Amino acid sequence: MSRDSEAGPGYMNSLPVAKPDFHSAFRILRPRGKGRFIVFCDHASNRVPAELDNLGLPASELDRHIAWDIGAAGVTAELSDIFDAPAILCGTSRLVIDCNRQLHAYDLIPEVSDGTAVLGNRGLSEAARQLRIERWFEPYHAAVESVIADRESRGLTSIALSIHSMTACLAGNARPWQIALSSHNDRSLVEPMLAVLRKSEYCQTGNVTVGDNQPYDLDPAVDYSVPFHAMRRNMPYLQVEFRQDEVADAAGQVRWARRFAQALAGLLPLGE
Ligand SMILES: [Zn+2]
Repeated sequence: MSRDSEAGPGYMNSLPVAKPDFHSAFRILRPRGKGRFIVFCDHASNRVPAELDNLGLPASELDRHIAWDIGAAGVTAELSDIFDAPAILCGTSRLVIDCNRQLHAYDLIPEVSDGTAVLGNRGLSEAARQLRIERWFEPYHAAVESVIADRESRGLTSIALSIHSMTACLAGNARPWQIALSSHNDRSLVEPMLAVLRKSEYCQTGNVTVGDNQPYDLDPAVDYSVPFHAMRRNMPYLQVEFRQDEVADAAGQVRWARRFAQALAGLLPLGE
């Protein structure tokens, strides 16, 4: 389906907590989607706002996984289509500010990432840190909150899908999981979803391995998005990592989004 329901500024102006600079901080697909899911993608983009001068990095570094979750935006868009779900995609690189980090996390604005020194993040003043929070962290999260509030006002409950991707190899360690779920204490959706994924034909015969809190768990002391938007209001959630070599191109993104959606649809009735 087309992306003609993508939100523009007119939509955000009608919502309560929109902040300046929202054009670059995020974009929204299907803001009024009627499905039961809300999808967010914290690391959708590798864009560095012009005033930050690429953070002192060459384009080759900004194409790497350190700058974004490769393929995650495409998977998110496909899930938004499949489920008629609003999707909020962060508009700036995680190297500018990591929108899935608590504000006190040491790697909120990383000075080094996977061996790459991010010169533009070195020795930032408190004012410069605060500016990044105000310009790119807060508007993205305000957008997620606005969509949730709008749904609540229409009597729609939501299940959160937090979409990430992971590099196939980090620090010399190859990752065997093509797809992985990250969770904390509430395993009510995670356990059945793991079971459905593992029973799938591509797992049984296709040499696909599903990770359970591997390589990442979900830690409310460090992670921000699911704890703030979902756990805080007891909203059910799934946080998923797709391996980047599987979702690097559009065909892979569609394939894995459909696999994920099929597993989810087998678990939950999709209507309200
Ligand atoms: Zn991520």
